[in-house]
Amino acid sequence: MNRSIPRPTEGSLAPLEAGTVTLVGGGPGDPGLLTVAGLQALQQADVVLVDHLAPQESLAQCRPDCEQVWVGKLPRGEFVAQERINELLVKHALAGRRVVRFKGGDNFVFGRGGEEWQACAQAGVAVRIIPGVTSSVAAPALAGIPVTHRSLVQGFTVVSGHVPPGDPRSQLDWAALAATRTTLVVLMGVKYLPQIAEALVQHGMDPQTPAAVVERAGQPQMRQVRGPLGQIATLSRDVHPPAVTVIGEVAGLQLG
Ligand code: SAH
Repeated sequence: MNRSIPRPTEGSLAPLEAGTVTLVGGGPGDPGLLTVAGLQALQQADVVLVDHLAPQESLAQCRPDCEQVWVGKLPRGEFVAQERINELLVKHALAGRRVVRFKGGDNFVFGRGGEEWQACAQAGVAVRIIPGVTSSVAAPALAGIPVTHRSLVQGFTVVSGHVPPGDPRSQLDWAALAATRTTLVVLMGVKYLPQIAEALVQHGMDPQTPAAVVERAGQPQMRQVRGPLGQIATLSRDVHPPAVTVIGEVAGLQLG
């Protein structure tokens, strides 16, 4: 038997152990889209470090004596520095507590889960991951957009739009993205959507390509805007983060 493949009882539903950190993906915001294992971890935690995109309602499931530490956006719009979050995770774990790091979506999709794991590992703290429902798939889905659709598209590409095309910090090849013939899903792309759409068109993507912007998916304030790539930035100019942009033929589907 291959011991590296855990049986379900030894896997995500195993009780949390003292002195460990569990990275829990909270899904896009609807408490119903938190996994069973994620909910169980929250219920057992001694300390939870929470982000602003994690489903806040689910925190009501924590034990009354569970310490909830807010490490998301501060009222002034600043963030708690990642180094500080890493320190807190390690500190609480070394004090023998069952620590949960609770984030929106999936911790390994633009969630810094890898960095947190490394920081814990360096301090000798054991880490578990409970994957979450990532908004990169769930936001399109909740808007009725399948990221793949047989006969239409055979894949999807998820990228971050937090720096614009052409920015020296950007590692993305926008010419390649324009040519992939996969659905393109852009996270953190509200601010630079005009530049992103323009870069894709400049690199040869048809400005008539269907696009959609899905705001606050899985939350009561959810909205979506659909339109051709060439106009999507203008059509969605009053959309605020968090929102996911979907570009490709699937964004033009009306399933019902
Ligand atoms: N780890 C998260 C992504 C974090 S980056 C995940 O897997 O979903 C933050 C970005 O995620 C936001 O800028 C937005 O693009 C997207 N996002 C997260 N929650 C969302 C939601 N409920 N609706 C729409 N977009 C969301």
